[in-house]
Amino acid sequence: MEDTIFMKIIRREVPAHIVYEDDETIAFLDAKPNVPGHTLVVPKKYARNIFDVDETTLNAVIRTVRMIAPAVRDGVGAHGVHINSNHEAAAGQIVFHLHFHIIPRHDQSEFEFCWPKREYPRDEFVAVAEKIRAQLI
Ligand code: 5GP
Repeated sequence: MEDTIFMKIIRREVPAHIVYEDDETIAFLDAKPNVPGHTLVVPKKYARNIFDVDETTLNAVIRTVRMIAPAVRDGVGAHGVHINSNHEAAAGQIVFHLHFHIIPRHDQSEFEFCWPKREYPRDEFVAVAEKIRAQLI
């Protein structure tokens, strides 16, 4: 079992504002929120991220995400949520213990800067899809 900061929160060795807990998962406020109410959902059974988590653990986390999301939204009077999860450092993961962020959103102005879009040249579109399909064979 990896001894991450989230394991310490699960064991109550590090304080956190826990909003929900069951046998398999825990949810608590992010210490450095994007906006107030930003909540993390974490499995108690250690997994580094999506690349090694077993299906039972992932199902438990997603079940809690679905249950917590409306409570986060309504608890802070938001109108929607971002559900985000970073996997490996290249994608911004800094705590290497699987987790999902639930980030309340009041309106689009809160996030439109953070997800810039680009266009695919037609050939790249086709080639990229083929490369991903080839990995699944
Ligand atoms: P990541 O970039 O790995 O997806 O995000 C990890 C998140 O964990 C960050 O948003 C960070 O603020 C949060 N975090 C890191 N350490 C602690 C902690 O000790 N307590 C709490 N509540 N959140 C933490």
